Amino acid sequence: MAILKTEAIILKTYKLSETSLILLLYTRDHGKLKVVAKGARDPKSKFKGCMELLSHVHIIYYEKKNRDLQLLSQASLISAQKNMIGDVERTTLGLAAAELLNKAVAGEEAFAKLFDLLGATLETLNTTRGFLEAVLWYFESHFIDLMGYKPTWDTCLSCGQSLGVDGGYFQAQSGGLLCSRCGSTGGGLVIQGETLEILYYLQRALLPETAQLHPTPGQKAEIRKMFDLYFRAHIEHLNRLNALDIYYRMHD
Ligand SMILES: [Zn+2]
Repeated sequence: MAILKTEAIILKTYKLSETSLILLLYTRDHGKLKVVAKGARDPKSKFKGCMELLSHVHIIYYEKKNRDLQLLSQASLISAQKNMIGDVERTTLGLAAAELLNKAVAGEEAFAKLFDLLGATLETLNTTRGFLEAVLWYFESHFIDLMGYKPTWDTCLSCGQSLGVDGGYFQAQSGGLLCSRCGSTGGGLVIQGETLEILYYLQRALLPETAQLHPTPGQKAEIRKMFDLYFRAHIEHLNRLNALDIYYRMHD
């Protein structure tokens, strides 16, 4: 048995018994990890205040190889995302990012850049004001890059012409867009030129700035649909993001 230390973000929690919790964590050094926090539901627990969903914590745990569930020994807060608590908009967007990562990533492989992207996204959702859905869009577009299935955003998949003000037709399976000429026969999801500008902006913007975007309802609909089609085409068994369904019901 080994004693290991790492940073972790709490993706999900389950009740194990009257007193204990199971936590599904994304860790900086060991990928996805499931631990049991014994006594965590007791008000006097040593884990008190560290078990909130989406919290960023330091943990120490006992690892037994070939066991699915490890034992949490200690936890201390790095960031509690306090403004998220009781704020449905911030919480559902944060949970959507956590759910996407959970469904797309398997195993214990370390991926520090992905961990940092999730951490920064949650931190921004916790602290920024404005159009917060764009913070999730930033996460989604950078997540795609890190996972290695970045679409070709700027040129036509068929003729290679630069896409711009005319927009294009998004092809989820092939990972890119057709220009307006090729798309008129090839089909795909229509993306207006101004929507493409937002997608380009998300690639280069600083994370907290993204909440200053003011997309029109049409642009919002195109971006939501584009990410949805893309994730379904490239992540097995994704189906849909439950947290995002809740968010959409409240923010159409
Ligand atoms: Zn073309």
